[in-house]
Amino acid sequence: MSQFIFDELTGIPTILASKRAKRTDQTGAVSSKEKSPEEKTVCFFCKGNEHLTPPATYQDADDWNVRVFKNKFPIVDDHEIIVHSPEHDKDLTELPQDQNVRYIRAILNRVHYYTSSGMEVMVFNNRGGKAGASILHPHTQIIALAGFPGILELEKHEALRYYNEHHSCYWCDMIKSEAVIGERVVYESKHFIVLVPKASRWSYEMILVPKSHKPNFEFVDEMEINDFARILKAALYAYDQLFNRPDRNFWIHTQRYDPYHWHVGFIPHIKVVGGLELGAGVWVSDRASPEDAALQLEPYVKRMYEEGDGIKTLA
Ligand SMILES: [Zn+2]
Ligand SMILES: [Zn+2]
Repeated sequence: MSQFIFDELTGIPTILASKRAKRTDQTGAVSSKEKSPEEKTVCFFCKGNEHLTPPATYQDADDWNVRVFKNKFPIVDDHEIIVHSPEHDKDLTELPQDQNVRYIRAILNRVHYYTSSGMEVMVFNNRGGKAGASILHPHTQIIALAGFPGILELEKHEALRYYNEHHSCYWCDMIKSEAVIGERVVYESKHFIVLVPKASRWSYEMILVPKSHKPNFEFVDEMEINDFARILKAALYAYDQLFNRPDRNFWIHTQRYDPYHWHVGFIPHIKVVGGLELGAGVWVSDRASPEDAALQLEPYVKRMYEEGDGIKTLA
């Protein structure tokens, strides 16, 4: 099975997951092999094709609106797929609020399942070949491990260092100071703030942070779930509008224990990673300054958040 291999010098982790080479590839992102006729026509994630996937680990009803099952080609043992809806062509930006709430409840169910057994989780969405997706039907993935090396480990470590130095949470302090500065704030709702990070790796990177301090995503309350569904859709809608439905990633960073503050990261695939990024680990944000990106994203997030399901036409 898959396992981490750490670079001896830098500690940068790699997962060996060679069994994934056999997975279906509808986007052409994973391999250039000739697709079988079945791969081209049959969607494993559509209603009626449940027998083509492993059994459900969660679904909201017998006649499901959201369905979760183990990945047939897992990166690690605990790797599940959350199908956003039975609709093959509709993503979160096109689905109604009540469906997106069901989607978030499905994620919460799986996060609870794994964190209550002492594991940490990474929830992530890949849309399009450039973002790493191999199946077209909109879906999110969850991976559970005893712990995640890499960025999560670094954030956890630095959050503890920050806490010891300032006796406060890094993210609580960061959103307070960003709200005062205002220039990088994309939108602020009752329970969340969306902003473009000061040190964006990609232009138009966004971070969505809950105002209420909670390390674990699982601790969200009912008011936050509703607001989260709405602002998540609005943030993704801004990318669709600005970049004509780009390939994109978003992910939920969450930890079981303090000092941590769950949050969501977003990246639109409007550029390719080059030699400086891969060779030096230095990111080049060359399409817009964080302040300019926030200014451009704001009207779309505001419009979708405030008009929601009432929006009929694209700008
Ligand atoms: Zn489908
Ligand atoms: Zn906090």
